[in-house]
Formats: sequence, structure tokens, C-alpha cells
Amino acid sequence: MADEGRTSQPEASVHVNHYCCIDGCGQWGGFGFARTRAEPVTWWCFEHYPQWEEIKRNARKSA
Ligand SMILES: [Zn+2]
Repeated sequence: MADEGRTSQPEASVHVNHYCCIDGCGQWGGFGFARTRAEPVTWWCFEHYPQWEEIKRNARKSA
């Protein structure tokens, strides 16, 4: 039981410094995306995040 906290914190990695992956952008990459959990997450800033269309499509679908 004492070790539970160590393994059950998936959000711990969110606090790693990560900036937009677009060359020369340099803005904070607040938006991460990985196709699978095994794939390393790629980070984008708000402007460069390429998944907006997909998110909008999914939001419409589930609404
Ligand atoms: Zn950017």
C-alpha cells in the first residue's frame, strides 16, 4: 500500500518542461498528442496544435 502513490500518478510527466515542436516557435507546448501510449508524446503550442479539427469532429459526433 505504501508504494501505491509512486505508480498511480500518470499526470506526473505533465510537469516536465516541454515546448512546441515546431522549429523556431519556442512557445510553451501545452498540447500533447500521441497516437498510442507507447509512442512518445509530441507537444505543440495552441497555434500549432494539429489536432483541433479532429477534436471538433469528435465533439460534434458525441454531442
Ligand atoms: Zn508553436
